This record gives sequence, structure tokens and C-alpha cells, in this order.
Amino acid sequence: MKVYLTSPVTGFQSELFDVLNLFFGSVDKADAPDDADLRVYIKEELLRSERECTVSLNGLYQADVSNTVTLSRDLLEAKRLHKRQQKLGLFHALMQATGIRPPWGALTGVRPTRLVMDAMAGGQSVKEAVRQVQNVFCLSDEKARLLLEIVGLQTGLPQAKPGEIACYIGIPFCRTRCSYCSFLSREAGDGRLLPDYVNALIHEVEGTIRLMKDNGLTARSVYVGGGTPTVLPEDLLHKVLTAAQPLFDQAQERTVEAGRPDSITKGSLQVIKDAGVQRISVNPQSLHDSTLETISRQHTSAQTLEAFSLARRMGFSHINMDLIAGLPGEDVDMFTASLSQILKLAPEAITVHTLSIKRSSALYRKGVRQAEDAQVGEMVQLALSETARNGYQPYYLYRQKHMAGNQENVGYAKPGYACLYNIDMMEDHTIVLAMGAGAVSKWVSPGRERVLRSPNVKDVHHYLARVDEMMDAKKALFKGIGKGVKAPESQED
Ligand code: SF4
Repeated sequence: MKVYLTSPVTGFQSELFDVLNLFFGSVDKADAPDDADLRVYIKEELLRSERECTVSLNGLYQADVSNTVTLSRDLLEAKRLHKRQQKLGLFHALMQATGIRPPWGALTGVRPTRLVMDAMAGGQSVKEAVRQVQNVFCLSDEKARLLLEIVGLQTGLPQAKPGEIACYIGIPFCRTRCSYCSFLSREAGDGRLLPDYVNALIHEVEGTIRLMKDNGLTARSVYVGGGTPTVLPEDLLHKVLTAAQPLFDQAQERTVEAGRPDSITKGSLQVIKDAGVQRISVNPQSLHDSTLETISRQHTSAQTLEAFSLARRMGFSHINMDLIAGLPGEDVDMFTASLSQILKLAPEAITVHTLSIKRSSALYRKGVRQAEDAQVGEMVQLALSETARNGYQPYYLYRQKHMAGNQENVGYAKPGYACLYNIDMMEDHTIVLAMGAGAVSKWVSPGRERVLRSPNVKDVHHYLARVDEMMDAKKALFKGIGKGVKAPESQED
């Protein structure tokens, strides 16, 4: 669908299109009213201490909605409320015109939990904070309950002590590329790049350990992710984990996201185990071979079961398994069958993602679309109830653009197995020092009002050539010089 949108504030266009996407999937911008299926006109009027904003729709849908807000003297706050006013105006007009009620209401940000925590920082209880977020953004009761459960659980966990941080080490290679993938990951190919990459990465890991020492920081959690870390030959994986050993020794939680079952071998698991890592991921995504073929996973469900059983036999006591709701060709019964099989394996954690087909993915280019919204909603609800029935609790969540059915990704864990790294990273609880191509380090101010980012270059060849520059940028973070100052994500909703 093509949409022509005019607003007196040009800076909010992309956020307003995010709201349109909640109702119509992926919409395109029209350059002129005559080219558009839907025309959106936003007008504003400034009164003495208030601003009235009117949103009019015409074309495929018709509606007029006005709302008024009190103006704020704080410039940052004023901008945030201004953007929110326009987004909510458009949201209510679209809801009135289409009759659609997106489950997360008008929220388009990545971290709804942050909004609740921000409200709690103002002195509200979890319940009050969730109710406020639900009322302002029109969340469904189900999503409000989910928020309540997750934030309630997170606030009961041990918080990071001053000086404790999260560390990430990235291996941005996979054997082959899954067709829904929009992550930073390249095929390992003939493997020629891997030794040089590992050398550069180790150089950055050693530099980061020195930086942490100089700044009195220790690792609370270490996460080796990707990509697929186990795509590295065992000797290279050993080199990386040996370099990271001082971090592992400090951390309460160590994860190696082994990842795709076709890359997991007895040798790679032994290397991980010898490094003292207990938490790994074995990610099936689906346990239907026909689906795995459609999404080019290049492994079978039998390989997933074998990898899981091997890891258990070798003594891994904290295994996470990833599953995706809304995969092409899957209905609720197929999703339920995969989930039931995973529950029978009884991993300590299960992460249920909702498929999000980004424009950069092969699936999008092939014109393959995710399952229907209502079906995806059913799958996600089913994951919530079935995991609860089997003793799991939802402990973290995040959202992405273009998620099937406007749903979310949720991490479930048995009591005592919530992943601290996932929570700290998502909620900006701690500083994150990240190593590897495309990894993003974050400096978080003690009150979490300010977050400075230092992203490493994404391209592996550039990373090899510029790894010292990445280290210098990380050092600069501690002098308050990040790559732009960014307000916490939740404030953008
Ligand atoms: S395993 Fe993960 S990172 Fe690698 S291609 Fe597949 S989806 Fe992308």
C-alpha cells in the first residue's frame, strides 16, 4: 500500500510510518497525493500552553482524530511528547478507521519493558507502571500481563553491582545463510578468513581486558554469539575462548551460543566445556524438515535432537533452544508439534521469536511472506501457556520491526535460569563492552539517563584493517565520547 503523509514536523516521518506498518504491514511512501492509496494529513495548532494535533485520513480509509497536550519547558521532554502526540493521533485514527487493534497498541519501540521501568523509577509500583503504559499506548490485556510478569521477575533478580558489566564476543560467520536472516553474518566459505578474524578478535579481547582493568570493571556475564561461534574449527574456537578466559573467570554467567545444530560437534562442545562454560544454545527454530528446507537452515530436526542429546551427555546443564513462530508454511499445529517436542527435551530455557521478514532477507526477495497474523498470535499465546504449564517463566522480551502479527520475542526460563546477559543488554542495566565485527559497545550512565554507543565496523575486511581504531573508540566511551548521544530506546515510543 502507498501512503502520502504530510506533517508540520518533518523529523517524525519514519516513526509515523512505523505506526502505519502496525496496521498494514510494510507500507511504501507516495511522493504525491494522487499516487497514494491512503493520504494522511497532520495539522497542529498552538494554543497558549497547549498544542492541538488533528490527524485526517482519506483515500482507502476515512477518519479525523484530534488530541491536545500540555506543552513542556524541558526541550528533550517536549520533543518526546510531541512525537508521541503525533504517533498516538495517527494510531487512534487508524484504529477507528480500520477496526484493527494491534496487540502492543501504539508501541513501535524495541523494549516495552523499559517504559515500565522508567515509570517505576518515578516511584510507581510494577502494577501501576504497567497500567499507565497500557492506558497511554492501548496495549491488550494479554500484553500488559506479560509485561507485568517479566518486569516483576526481572526486579527480583540480583542487580549488577557497581563496576560489573556485560561482555559480548561476536563470531559473525555461519556455514550457510538462513533465508530469513537479517543479522550481521556472512558465510564462512572456504574458511580462509577465519584465522585472520580470530587473530584480530583476540587482539580486541586482550585490549578490552586491559581497558576494563584500567577502569575498575569486571565481567558479570560473557556472551559469545554470532553468527554461529561453533562454525570456527576447534583450534580457533579454543584460541578465542582461551583469550576470553580472564573474563570467564570473573563472570557469574558464561554463554557460548553454539547455535545451528549442523555446526555442533563433540570436539567443539568439549572446547566450550573446558573453558568452564555451562550455558549454550542449540537452536532448532522448527522441528519440521520441510520448514527447515524452506528457510534454508541446511540441517534436519534429527541433527537438532542429536546435538541436544550430545550436549546433555557431556554434562551441559543450562541449554537454551530457539523456536520461531510464524515461519512460512507453518500453521498452529506444526508450531505446537515443535514446541511439544522441545518441552519434552526440557531445556533450561526456550526463546520464542516471532518471524520478522526484513527487506534485506532472501525470503523477502523471494516474495515469501510469514504466516497470517491471527495464527501467529495463537502460536505466541500457546507458547506462553505451554511453557508456563511446564514450569517456565517469561524473563525478557524485545520487539522488532515487521514482526508477524505485531507480536514479540520472549525468553522463557525455568526458575534460576534467566539469562543475565540478555536482561542487562536489553534493559541497559550495565555497560556492555562488545568485541568483533559489527559488535556494539554501550556506556550507560549510573541512572541510565544516558547511553553512549560505540559500534564496531560491520564489514569483516574493514574490521581486520581497523581493529585498533575500534579499541580507541571503546576507550573514548569512558571519556564520554560515544558515537552520538542517544536517549534510552523506550523514550522514543
Ligand atoms: S544461523 Fe542465525 S545468524 Fe546464521 S544465517 Fe542463520 S539466522 Fe543468520
